Amino acid sequence: MKCKYCGREMIKTKTPFKRPVKGEMLVVPDVEVYSCPGCGAVYFPEETIRMQAEKLAKNSFR
Ligand SMILES: [Zn+2]
Repeated sequence: MKCKYCGREMIKTKTPFKRPVKGEMLVVPDVEVYSCPGCGAVYFPEETIRMQAEKLAKNSFR
């Protein structure tokens, strides 16, 4: 995958991801993202986020 800003090849890495869901901060500790070594842009694949978030939501359901 190439960076849409500077055109360099992005590298796959892992990062924590936070998103507010229904007034609570949902934290996914290890999300696979693409990071650009050139300009530092980070691309979060939407599908990955959704899958991780759903898995996490089920695990923390009380
Ligand atoms: Zn870039």
